Amino acid sequence: MMIIMGQGDSILGLLVKLWRHLGHRRKNQFYILAILLPLGGVAEVMSLGAVLPLLTVLIEPETIFKYDYIKNFVSIFNIEKTEQMALPIVIVFSFLVIGSALFRIALLWAMTRVAFGCGADLCVKVYRTTLYQPYSKHISQHSSNVIAGIAGKVSGSAAVLQHVLLLINAAIMGGMILIAMFIASPLIALISSVGIGSIYLAISWQSRKRLLINSNAIAVESVRQIKYLQEGLGAIRDVLIDGTQNIFLSMYQKAEFSLRKAQCNNNVIAASPKFMVEAFGIILIAIIAFAFSMRSGGVLEVLPVLGLFVLAAQRLLPALQQIYASWAFVAGMQTSLIDAISLLDQKLPMIHDRSMIAGLAFKSEIEAINLGFKYSPEGPVVLANVSFVIERGARIGILGVTGSGKSTLFDILMGLLVPTTGQLVIDSESIVNEKIDQWQKIIAHVPQNIYLTDATVAENIAFGVPLEQIDMERVRLAAERANISLFIDGLELGYATVTGERGARLSGGQRQRLGIARALYKNAKVLLLDEATSALDDATEKSVMDAIEGLGSDITILIIAHRLSTLERCDFIYKVEGGTLSMISASSLKAVP
Ligand code: ATP
Ligand code: MG
Repeated sequence: MMIIMGQGDSILGLLVKLWRHLGHRRKNQFYILAILLPLGGVAEVMSLGAVLPLLTVLIEPETIFKYDYIKNFVSIFNIEKTEQMALPIVIVFSFLVIGSALFRIALLWAMTRVAFGCGADLCVKVYRTTLYQPYSKHISQHSSNVIAGIAGKVSGSAAVLQHVLLLINAAIMGGMILIAMFIASPLIALISSVGIGSIYLAISWQSRKRLLINSNAIAVESVRQIKYLQEGLGAIRDVLIDGTQNIFLSMYQKAEFSLRKAQCNNNVIAASPKFMVEAFGIILIAIIAFAFSMRSGGVLEVLPVLGLFVLAAQRLLPALQQIYASWAFVAGMQTSLIDAISLLDQKLPMIHDRSMIAGLAFKSEIEAINLGFKYSPEGPVVLANVSFVIERGARIGILGVTGSGKSTLFDILMGLLVPTTGQLVIDSESIVNEKIDQWQKIIAHVPQNIYLTDATVAENIAFGVPLEQIDMERVRLAAERANISLFIDGLELGYATVTGERGARLSGGQRQRLGIARALYKNAKVLLLDEATSALDDATEKSVMDAIEGLGSDITILIIAHRLSTLERCDFIYKVEGGTLSMISASSLKAVP
């Protein structure tokens, strides 16, 4: 199971793990941000620090002329009287503030872009590693895990990264403002930072557990939410007939409500301290103002410093709130982050570029030596001691009761499942590692359940080939052989007709014949048909089998079928029974019911 409730990893540890999954380009972007963020802080403090001279000049203009260099500098602009200073200072101040705002907008854009770019990279990485996982891994996990993992958790890590950046940004900003405040008045700075800081620390300590519990709920319920959606819609026919809409709805509702409740709780936890702390901040300023007013000289004398403090507090409070809220967000995503990392941590097997690989030069025979198979170490033996030799160009039929292991045998023959014991040998070479890719390159398979995509008929036949590279001649030939061309030609849009999700707009037999056409399009040397004609009427099946029969004597064909008539023209017929394979002689063939 992918969802790990483990709390062993600290948030920082998880972030380090996430960092390792980022590409070089993204890491470099982070380094650039690491330089820009402090600059943003400087810009912030500069626009803030400019308030002090502004207020000083507006209240007591003559103070500024105490400095000779300012007097000399402004005299260049023909400014002699102190009153003339006010306007230029206001203009300079405005430019500073606007410049700082623009820089911060740019910084926000850069941070958000990098974070969401990382999210996209990580999602693609997970989909890529998932697609390359061996077949055995795919049949052992529910696809909603992967879908929820990619759609929710991994893309959620983009938001996590964004919040980490916001946190760092706010911390730098807050730190610089604090320093400025300390320079202006150490005592007030100390009182306010300790006061506000301890409030946030206390709240974080308090909400830690709640956030973790919610983060578990978010991780679990987001998988359930997708699972119930998939299951209800996937079995819609049964749901409609049985009238079980309510059951699916209530399961979905439960997941959805739990998920939203946890998210809502986390949002409230993240946002609520703001109001208390703001109230505290305002009270603090009032007290400070009051304390100053009691001293000789009154408030007027300290107005510039007080103004600076009001402004600083107005910037400092949101910065502290941002630090806290971002931390709360990341903490609330902790479990999702663990799941995302476990998806990212999936081992990527050696990837061989199929287009660069030459197909196996299959010359003489396929040999199975003592093949045995179990789906799991503790599970039942599905196949045991299966040995046979199939000559190139042979037509082989395979019979056996349902559940006897026919499809499993095909999966092993195709190199999708690795046999638990024994080996598959082609032309006296064992099919392992890169040989599997070469072998698969010359195989075409028609599965029991054909998965058609919501694309055109042509795209479904030339499956996985980009539209502009589809060889329409080959598509037509494949459709003809699969006995589906008449039907396709009869469609208004012909080969450009869209088949609907999973081929929902086609009959079972039409889907099967499209599946056969898809296999034939590949021009493979080995063709495996797993009940490929089970949905066809006798006459259609016969003509499809005739066409397959006429494919050429160098193509090896293996056919699983329940109907003996399908296997009529096979050279040899095997029966899977009790986990083993036995050949049925021509005479006993007639005896098989
Ligand atoms: P059918 O004629 O119904 O298609 P089959 O001969 O093709 O049957 P298989 O699909 O090969 O049968 O299944 C063989 C056995 O392996 C069955 O008992 C089945 O329950 C089991 N099995 C199949 N797939 C899995 C799986 N993914 N995990 C565990 N057991 C499986
Ligand atoms: Mg089967």
